[in-house]
Amino acid sequence: MEQYTAPITKLIEELAKLPGIGRKSAQRLAFYILEMKGSDVVELARAIVNAKKHTKHCQTCGNLTEGELCSICISLKRDRSTICVVEDARDIAAMERTKEYKGLYHVLHGTISPLDGIGPDEINIKSLISRLNTDIKEVILATNTTIEGEATAVYISRLIKPMGIKVTRIAHGIPVGGDIEYADEVTLMRAMEGRREM
Ligand code: ZN
Repeated sequence: MEQYTAPITKLIEELAKLPGIGRKSAQRLAFYILEMKGSDVVELARAIVNAKKHTKHCQTCGNLTEGELCSICISLKRDRSTICVVEDARDIAAMERTKEYKGLYHVLHGTISPLDGIGPDEINIKSLISRLNTDIKEVILATNTTIEGEATAVYISRLIKPMGIKVTRIAHGIPVGGDIEYADEVTLMRAMEGRREM
């Protein structure tokens, strides 16, 4: 263990908890922060606390929002007959960049993953089912093409299909094991256009 003061060690430990940040990167960031102007450090810390404080999950779809409902759910310009189901709020941003999709979203906040002890009740599926009124004509399953993403799509389609709602799965272009979040706009657009009924 390196001989740092307790406050520096604590800072490194906290930074190392972030995704993709190993011990080395955490040390590098910590030392960078320590060299920053005091006012900039306060700005950074404030931005983190503020973003956390003023961000909630939309009560309807689970998207990130400042108020009770997100801008997509309250928009009058959206097609209210279609719901696109995604794993993560970041996937909404990716879909929105295509500017093609005009429907609503539903964020699962994860996938069914029995090996990790995550069952259907641990993700946002119940709230999806409760949204399926007679206005909903199609549910597009845009979970990632990983094993968990596919299994989750199959699980949800089995729940919804008996309700007489069209269920589709985005297909083309997204490589197997691929993350929606990292797909480029054209690929994502084609994947949406090429969706097939489940
Ligand atoms: Zn919403």
